[in-house]
Amino acid sequence: MPGMRVLVPFNSRTVTAFILSVNSGRRDLDFEPKPILDVLDPTPLFHMSHIPFFKWISLYYLCPLGDVIKTALPGGITVQDLTLVRITEKGLAAIGSTELSQQERRVLSGVIDGPKASSVLVRSVEPPVKTSFLNTLERKGFVRLTRDLKKSSTNRKFETWVKPVETALDVSALTDTQSGLLEHIRETGESPLSRIKKTPCYSPSRMAALEIRGFVTRFDRQVYRDPLGDSVIPDIPPDLTDEQAAVVSEVSGVLERGFSSWLLVGVTGSGKTEVYMRLVQDALEKNLSALVLVPEISLISQTEKRFRMRFGDTIAVLHSGLTKGEKFDQWLRIAEKQVRIVIGARSAIFAPLENLGLVIVDEEHDASYKQENGLRYNARDLAVVRAKLENAVCLLGSATPSVQSYRNTENGKFRELVLTRRVSDRQMPRIERVDLKTYRDYPGIRSFITPPLEEAMARTLREKEQVLLFLNRRGYANYPVCATCGETMKCVSCDVSLTYHQSRNAYRCHMCGYMIPSVSKCRVCNSSNIKNLGFGTERIEAAVKALFPDASVARLDQDTTVRQGSMLKILKDVKERRTDILVGTQMIAKGHDFPGITLVGVICADQGLNFPDFRSCERTFQLLAQVAGRAGRGDTPGRVIMQTYNPDHFSILAAEKQDFREFYAQEIQFRHSLGYPPFSRMIQIRISGKNKTAAQETAELAGAWITNHITAHQPLFDAVGIMGPIEAPIFKMADQYRWQILLKSAAQNPLHTLTRRFVHEISGSLKKDGVRISTDIDPYYLM
Ligand code: ADP
Ligand code: ZN
Ligand code: ZN
Repeated sequence: MPGMRVLVPFNSRTVTAFILSVNSGRRDLDFEPKPILDVLDPTPLFHMSHIPFFKWISLYYLCPLGDVIKTALPGGITVQDLTLVRITEKGLAAIGSTELSQQERRVLSGVIDGPKASSVLVRSVEPPVKTSFLNTLERKGFVRLTRDLKKSSTNRKFETWVKPVETALDVSALTDTQSGLLEHIRETGESPLSRIKKTPCYSPSRMAALEIRGFVTRFDRQVYRDPLGDSVIPDIPPDLTDEQAAVVSEVSGVLERGFSSWLLVGVTGSGKTEVYMRLVQDALEKNLSALVLVPEISLISQTEKRFRMRFGDTIAVLHSGLTKGEKFDQWLRIAEKQVRIVIGARSAIFAPLENLGLVIVDEEHDASYKQENGLRYNARDLAVVRAKLENAVCLLGSATPSVQSYRNTENGKFRELVLTRRVSDRQMPRIERVDLKTYRDYPGIRSFITPPLEEAMARTLREKEQVLLFLNRRGYANYPVCATCGETMKCVSCDVSLTYHQSRNAYRCHMCGYMIPSVSKCRVCNSSNIKNLGFGTERIEAAVKALFPDASVARLDQDTTVRQGSMLKILKDVKERRTDILVGTQMIAKGHDFPGITLVGVICADQGLNFPDFRSCERTFQLLAQVAGRAGRGDTPGRVIMQTYNPDHFSILAAEKQDFREFYAQEIQFRHSLGYPPFSRMIQIRISGKNKTAAQETAELAGAWITNHITAHQPLFDAVGIMGPIEAPIFKMADQYRWQILLKSAAQNPLHTLTRRFVHEISGSLKKDGVRISTDIDPYYLM
């Protein structure tokens, strides 16, 4: 069946292949087909309806179809490892009879004492059999094949729950205290025993009395725990706000009515997740399935938990935190239609849901939707494509939409929806700009923890509330310089300066991990007088500890989260208010919902503004608006101090007002005047190699081929602009010399045709001396 994997002969080799369609009548074949050697899957891993999607991806991203499917499927586990073979009654009876062949008898004898994995079974008989032999036995009814994973890894937990029994029993026999407890249980309905124990009317003997007399009963319920270790208890949907209700009814109205795409622009805390959950519910009631994509980080924080509270066991979750076995298990639950809701990170876009009605992309602007190696797809873009191919509704949502998506509301591709207010009348945080130039000459760290920030922190701590300090740079000092000759300490393998890390007492390269001890000398003059200029989160943390010795300070960045589980522990300490001040990089900017945080300090807001990348303003705005949105999510209004050298820069001003439209109005003019996306599309060709000359020569040959091809086929490719080949902004990275060619065009067709020809006709022959060439369609990082 389509969607199954098979073994096939391919020249002299045997390879794994995917069935895409079945030509039963051997019609129209102008070749002699070879037999399939073995069928590897008892049930399909994907459905016919997904094949056009795979084909689309293959064409658009210039990637062979087989590689697309391989990327889409959960990898690393072979089905034979998972398939268990059990003997049936009929099989048992048959062993003693004469109706079996020798071979069949040998195989059945192999499982007479209990089920075996098919991969073990086929090898344990002499001579070995093929997996398809087991399928034949199953068809005859002698064995049953099931695909269970070892459940041990999923670690199910159960909890005792209590519920009232519908009964006509006479309550007059109960004492007052007993009926008090019964009343409580009847009011709350099903609930965990642990929770009932906390009510004043509970006592063990009262509970026992109610149980013995049949008024209540206890049962085990599987509990899910969120990553922070709290159990997930079913929620009751709140009444929607008017704004939410309007959005839900618009989108519900088009479910089942074919493809449409929407952009929900809702300020932070406006209740977008509630809107998503209502729409998913709606899709389910219409017998449709729903796919919800979220950035990886929100799964760790809140979104998965909230979906579990609402939908319990009826959802499948796909993300990189799962083991291979767990991922495969989730995949099968979807493919075998046991669940109709999938929530997951980027790769969940491939989930084998059928009858798809709704695709939601939360925080659609998030960079984590772009895959940066192998098949470099953008899951946000693919969400729209998939919805279109499967006649579903696509809903993108964000407080800070990408310029690309908002442009699509202007040109009519997306319809816009808005949520302008936070729920429960919560205020948007108040944002103040602080001009860092004013404090430039203050001593040491005081030029970065300025008096206004320090004062605000002190006040927040006095009120027993929490502070979040944001700086998107880790380490202690990012700019070590030789005080004798002025040389910066650079990585030997990359074109970047090293960062001093106090906790490791060493200099490290953030590109390749290269590390040298802190006693190292200058490469040029051998002086050991190195000054550690610049600052990162580690230094801010140290400074804050010195300024506020009584506060408990924690840091969340890549360095403090290397150990498994350490990120969750840090977040949990914040949630449970054991941490007063959290310092961190962009890891703290997204998704988290901590009501105790009332002050957010942005140490240096302009940090990303000067990257040589046309999206640097967009990224800066998004990051600032998102980090500001972490403040005041509880009942106390939030405050944000945004320190900057460019207080009048439009990205900073717009972030201050949390006004996406103001930002957009300016940014779109800039994009328009320079013909950047969304007014054009781009493809980046990257050339890199250890051999500097070979990389350069290849880049020049590639550039020349493209230029010549454009000239030779005039006017076909006249719309395509070529920039480069040029050295990449980070020219040397991990010993690779990097070149890039950027192709740009307002028209997609010539751009893609040209690149396709480049890939098929020439790039293979250019790859020599270890030089690599890769193409990135709609690139996101241009560095
Ligand atoms: P967003 O995703 O837009 O930032 P959330 O969905 O996280 O906002 O909602 C913010 C908070 O408001 C959450 O704690 C959520 O449970 C709550 N909430 C959402 N909708 C409602 C509602 N209609 N009534 C009451 N509380 C709501
Ligand atoms: Zn020196
Ligand atoms: Zn390096």
